[in-house]
Amino acid sequence: DALRVDVAIIGGGAAGLMCARVAGLRGRRVLLIEHAERVGKKILMSGGGRCNFTNTGTSAANFISANPHFCKSALARYTPQDFIALVDKHGIAWHEKELGQLFCNDSSRQIVRMLLDECAAAGVRVETRCSVVRVQQHDRGFALTTTLGEVRAQALVVASGGLSIPRMGATGFGYALARQFGLAVRPTRAGLAPLTLSGTHQQNYHDLSGVALPVEARCNGQRFRAGLLITHRGISGPAILQISSYWQPGDDLRLNLLPDDDAFDALRAQQRAHPDAELRSVLAELLPRRLAQRLCELALPSLPMRQYRGAELRVFAAQLQAWPLVASGSEGYRTAEVTLGGVDTDALSSSTMESREVPGLYFIGEVVDVSGHLGGYNFQWAWSSAHAAGMVA
Ligand code: FAD
Repeated sequence: DALRVDVAIIGGGAAGLMCARVAGLRGRRVLLIEHAERVGKKILMSGGGRCNFTNTGTSAANFISANPHFCKSALARYTPQDFIALVDKHGIAWHEKELGQLFCNDSSRQIVRMLLDECAAAGVRVETRCSVVRVQQHDRGFALTTTLGEVRAQALVVASGGLSIPRMGATGFGYALARQFGLAVRPTRAGLAPLTLSGTHQQNYHDLSGVALPVEARCNGQRFRAGLLITHRGISGPAILQISSYWQPGDDLRLNLLPDDDAFDALRAQQRAHPDAELRSVLAELLPRRLAQRLCELALPSLPMRQYRGAELRVFAAQLQAWPLVASGSEGYRTAEVTLGGVDTDALSSSTMESREVPGLYFIGEVVDVSGHLGGYNFQWAWSSAHAAGMVA
């Protein structure tokens, strides 16, 4: 005999757990299906093990989507303050790191524990190591064939996440299911990922691996001021992860290496203070020494400062504030924090996440074409979209 539930949720990640809790609290019989051996694996690995669970500055501007307005309704109805209240109710200590980013003081395990406790209190049935083999519409609901048997559900919520980090259980399941039911899926690609350099571009920098500095990364009209880290393979750090979501091969990527200064004023001041010092030693006062040395080898002739005319210093300053970096690609899904693209928001109601064409079918979290910037926004989207669906499914 088939197991009968009101709401079946596929995917026990951030969005699936929150949706299960909310629907369960409304008295719905909820089954949460997770194919991995445990729920919430990405929560566990998030934020360096401390889970950057929200951002108090969350607004639609922090998200990438073909429809930039789609996320507004859900974000407005389940806010960062709502999630903070839940975290506080469970006595989980947290701190603000920077720019509104909230992290657990101790461990992201506390967030998974909290969600599981909430699900238990709401009477949710959680099945791990369970795979969905087939989904069909059935009797104004859905029939699921799973490795644990047949399931009949009035509502089906797809919370199976994106393609990032395949070794954590990511699959294209949600996209395939959307297509099966006729929903459009926007092309997917890795977001919030390190960029790779190749050929001479890699040779120019790879031995600087480990060098870190604050920069402003610019590409396609977007700019992010944050840290840059040079790696063996290319470039990483928050500024690069952020800009990677806007960069595609061939796009012009520029780094302001002195984001907090007017570079010309800084060089002029150094010229006055140290007229006999060479440019490379002067730059080493402003930038990490090994990088300063390399910039001089690559593009800036290093002479004693007094020998430069103002116009030359202006050229150097302009280069330092718009240093071109030719990336060859991104590290891709192997290390990406999110998947850009996904289930087309035109196919969904922004207030409920329900399919416009298939009543009772919902898509929430990362599988939807809404992706956040770095800084806790992706979890907030997971919580908010899950809440929107959980309130009505
Ligand atoms: P997921 O959390 O990916 O959950 C999907 C679940 O569905 C998984 O458990 C998966 O095993 C399961 N599943 C998939 N296919 C099936 C199937 N066919 N049957 C059954 N189950 C299935 N965001 C932040 O906001 N802050 C952070 O600090 C942060 N840190 C991150 C660090 C890393 C290393 C990574 C990779 C991501 C990080 N993110 C962070 C992004 C964030 O983890 C995701 O945006 C968020 O987890 C998406 O939630 P979700 O529930 O939609 O998907």
